[in-house]
Amino acid sequence: MTEEKDLIIIGGGINGVAIAGQAARLGLKVVLIEQNDLASGTSSKSTQLIHGGLRYLQQYYFSLVKKALHERSVLIKMAPHLIKPLQFIIPYYKESTLRRCMIRVGLFIYDHLSAHNSLTKAKAIHLNMAPYQSFLKKNIKSGAVYSDAWTHDSRLVMEWALLAKQYQATILTYQAILELGEKENGWQIIVQDKFSQKCSTYEAKALINATGPWVEPFQRQHLAEWPTTKMRLVKGSHLVLKRELPDNKAYLFECADGRVIFLTPYEPGYCLLGTTELEYKGSLEDTHVEEAEIEYLLMAANAYVQTPFAREDIATTFSGVRPLLDDEIHNAHQLSRDYQLQLKTSAKGNSVLTVFGGKLTTHRRLALDALILLQKMRPIIYNNRAATVRELEAEIILLPGSEPLDEAQFRKNYSFVPVLTLSRYLRCYGTLCLFWLKGKNRLTDMGIDFGAGLYQAEVDYLLAQEWVKNTDDLLWRRTRLGLCLDEIDVGRLAEYIRNR
Ligand SMILES: Cc1cc2nc3c(=O)[nH]c(=O)nc-3n(C[C@H](O)[C@H](O)[C@H](O)COP(=O)(O)OP(=O)(O)OC[C@H]3O[C@@H](n4cnc5c(N)ncnc54)[C@H](O)[C@@H]3O)c2cc1C
Repeated sequence: MTEEKDLIIIGGGINGVAIAGQAARLGLKVVLIEQNDLASGTSSKSTQLIHGGLRYLQQYYFSLVKKALHERSVLIKMAPHLIKPLQFIIPYYKESTLRRCMIRVGLFIYDHLSAHNSLTKAKAIHLNMAPYQSFLKKNIKSGAVYSDAWTHDSRLVMEWALLAKQYQATILTYQAILELGEKENGWQIIVQDKFSQKCSTYEAKALINATGPWVEPFQRQHLAEWPTTKMRLVKGSHLVLKRELPDNKAYLFECADGRVIFLTPYEPGYCLLGTTELEYKGSLEDTHVEEAEIEYLLMAANAYVQTPFAREDIATTFSGVRPLLDDEIHNAHQLSRDYQLQLKTSAKGNSVLTVFGGKLTTHRRLALDALILLQKMRPIIYNNRAATVRELEAEIILLPGSEPLDEAQFRKNYSFVPVLTLSRYLRCYGTLCLFWLKGKNRLTDMGIDFGAGLYQAEVDYLLAQEWVKNTDDLLWRRTRLGLCLDEIDVGRLAEYIRNR
């Protein structure tokens, strides 16, 4: 049976789900097709920053920084449990006085580019005192501290997907596209579920290609007769290190080659170091950190920290690929991180909108811009809709899980759950955790204990509501408990998921 939709969106990264969420809120009928798990591409491999991008000021990308800073303040309001302010320290190491002045001017501009900046303004900081003194090298005495924000990237994707589902969007993961073609009145797609082998057919008036770094291969494979756009792929790798950062602050380190890297808090007991930037021509299905990248990142951070990070401190690594529009002038480091949207209409009058590039931070704006462009070019899709895109723009919605919560009362109500587990629930899910906590009165009500604070109640919720199909989906993208569970625990979880 063929299901009629308004939009087919390909790609379940942050941009695909944000477009799905905004379009569904508008009253459009949406189907989103993802080839693997949601956020299995770049959107679970970022530095996790919701930021303007201080370093882009050096390249004069003022409008991108301004746009991203505006988005930062909107997103903190939309998902306060998931997007939180974070302070960054720039330690002065070998910088000349002129360089220090430039940093101060840069930070002043950064603070003032955002009209609604409620975060703490940048200032100088003494680093030869606790708690920094024992963390940074002895000869580092001062620096600057500024504010940005951070998130859990893959959970942000899930919350947009949940929002889209709330507004009746169909979200399908682990789908193989068997056929995609133009019909007289739109597009037809036939997809097959990789687990159940079930096929589904959808027809829609417009198609959106939000496949991130796969944008070019997707065009070549499915839209061969449409013109392609040249992209440059740039790989970035991160190391998750077993060390907690003092005072929950992040660091911006300048490397010997002039690049900057970040050392940020991660899960309790861990920090995140990244990123590298390498032109990438390898397989998108197998991106991994190389020896030289590990060497580079450790060396760069160890120039600043007192107790050097060693290979034994690496808990895990991940690498992601940025698709950047190739201007054939700049090197990978200098290419713009801004997005471009391209809408093409065929002789038959069918439209395809392609998303190129972008940042995690700008996904909400990108989704609105995509819908505005579509509305301009294909107004017919928007006939009789619940709201206009401009109305959506004006409204700041809360992502699922973001409703206000009395934390003290919450902790009292569920005091039978270990304290650290409750903290993780609040950090990752906000009020969504009430789905499985409501009605529970003792720990045994939570069902099987899989270890590290993972109980059956949470697993059942994730299987039923958040498209979890296997242990990787659950342990690395819905949570980061993959860092804590041992092989035996993972095996027990895998068996439980298989038997469900
Ligand atoms: C190392 C690194 C660090 C970064 N750090 C930050 C940061 O700190 N802050 C920030 O704002 N931005 C950051 N970014 C950028 C940000 O992560 C990306 O802009 C964003 O995640 C891109 O999302 P996307 O939805 O376009 O792509 P993706 O997340 O890659 O999603 C595309 C999806 O399409 C799916 N797909 C592909 N082909 C098909 C097909 N044929 N059928 C169905 N599905 C398909 C893929 O499986 C994938 O899930 C970083 C990027 C990298 C690489």
